[in-house]
Amino acid sequence: MLRDISQKIKSSKRIIIFTGAGISKDSGIQTFRDEDGLWKNFDPQKLATLDGFLKDPVMVWKWYISRIEKIKQAKPNMGHYFVANIEKINKATFVITQNIDGLHKKAGSKNVIELHGNVEQIKCLKCTYKKPYDDTDFSVLPPKCICGSLLRPDVVWFGEALPYESLIKAFNLAELADLAIIIGTSNLVYPAAEIPFIAKRNRSFIIEINPERTVLTPYVDIYLNNPSKDAYEMLISLLNSNEEKIS
Ligand code: ZN
Repeated sequence: MLRDISQKIKSSKRIIIFTGAGISKDSGIQTFRDEDGLWKNFDPQKLATLDGFLKDPVMVWKWYISRIEKIKQAKPNMGHYFVANIEKINKATFVITQNIDGLHKKAGSKNVIELHGNVEQIKCLKCTYKKPYDDTDFSVLPPKCICGSLLRPDVVWFGEALPYESLIKAFNLAELADLAIIIGTSNLVYPAAEIPFIAKRNRSFIIEINPERTVLTPYVDIYLNNPSKDAYEMLISLLNSNEEKIS
């Protein structure tokens, strides 16, 4: 099956890779569901909504700072490197991710669409001002914009729309792709969950890599249960071997 996947990647012209929280699990990135420690008694839904932020920006910022500091220390895993290797052999490869951790870019992927924003940047609530997280002084909370308004993490919170341009770009890429690889997402949250189905409707070959079967699984061409680190390494070496290259 790994050989089939590698050959399919090599023979495809336009590829999208759609990823979710599952791909970052082996990098120690926790999802809201398994948040522990200091914040385990807090409701992430309240910490990750505009309403919650407006009620208590200091608490929300403290929570985000603890989360972002953990994320910044995380390293990409074999799954991210597998994805980055696909772009190395085919430049018409785009990663569309629901993750905010920046690990695809750290692994070397260049064409990355981050549907939920990322933790490297913060933005103003009112104006269009944005700045890097690392250049921000958090000694006085909450940080403020030059316009006087509050600065917030540049991520999509519960109840907020996905960035329009990124979403349209992702939909267009899904329409054009002849191969779509779906990794580590339950495919339940719309409109992003539409992406693999758009690809399917346009006769794209679909490969799903997930620990459990999802709503998408009945429609895919290859389903691969969560690969081990070794399996990912095998995939990477198959991708980089010339013998199998088919025109
Ligand atoms: Zn501002």
